[in-house]
Amino acid sequence: MKKISEFLRNEKGTVVVVLAIAMSVLAGFTALVTDVGFKYFNEAKLVNALDSAVLAGVQELPADPQLALEQAVNYADLNGILGGESSFQVDVSNRSVSGTANRQLGLFFARVLGFETTQVSASSKARIAPISSTGGIVPFGVIKEAYTFGQEVTLKEGAGDQSYSGWFGALRLGGTGALVYRDNIKYGYPEIISIGDVLEIESGNMSGPTRAGIEYRLDECHHVPQCSINSYVHGCSRILIVPMVNIEDINEGGHPASVRVVGFAAFLVNEYIGNGQESNVVGYFINYVASGTTSENGSDFGLYGSQLCE
Ligand SMILES: [Zn+2]
Repeated sequence: MKKISEFLRNEKGTVVVVLAIAMSVLAGFTALVTDVGFKYFNEAKLVNALDSAVLAGVQELPADPQLALEQAVNYADLNGILGGESSFQVDVSNRSVSGTANRQLGLFFARVLGFETTQVSASSKARIAPISSTGGIVPFGVIKEAYTFGQEVTLKEGAGDQSYSGWFGALRLGGTGALVYRDNIKYGYPEIISIGDVLEIESGNMSGPTRAGIEYRLDECHHVPQCSINSYVHGCSRILIVPMVNIEDINEGGHPASVRVVGFAAFLVNEYIGNGQESNVVGYFINYVASGTTSENGSDFGLYGSQLCE
């Protein structure tokens, strides 16, 4: 009998020991699952916030690297990165914004195991490159040239002052007719146009549809003050994306018949100049970031696409 009771006592002891070990293993796992999850959650939040910050920053490149940095900081802040947690840089060629963020996290259960805090960090980079292919262009072919910011450029000429006899600068995109042409000005031609594409020209002056299209664009700007070259809002209807072109074919009459796209540029319009048949569409050249396919080696006419690259 004595042996049996000793045996039972020992067994009880063993159970307690086994239970104690099991409990601490369980606590360890709980710590692992909860705190590791917490760490990953914070890491993912940091990466997402940093991605949107660098993407917001590059929208201001290459024109204004200082503003690019400010925008990156603003977006980081809006997305919950605290001041002092992040830092951003613009590369020397003003083509990319990179950022890093570090956060010290207090742990919950892992304190049992002696870990009070952990560090999470993230890095991200976005860059711009010339657009080689895009949708939404307006049907004006602008002869390829290197423009500077704010330069006034005639996008479509009126009667009497054509650079090319028989061509006012209009393009035939997606069909003939004044209404197709007008809608391409109002809403942008919806199909994708790429560098190398050959586009037919529209030989008429079409001052009525041109005016209707441009006035629609001007009226759709509801920003205060209304957008001008001095201050404009990204995405405004007054910003026109146009193809830069070379004359491709001359018809029997000696007039241009088609043009070849060599790149893309953006212009801001803030008025419709002239009267009737003699009206010009004049835009101010801007550096701009829009959506589209980019090519690192594409011709650079100041229109860029942005993307994350790290
Ligand atoms: Zn506007």
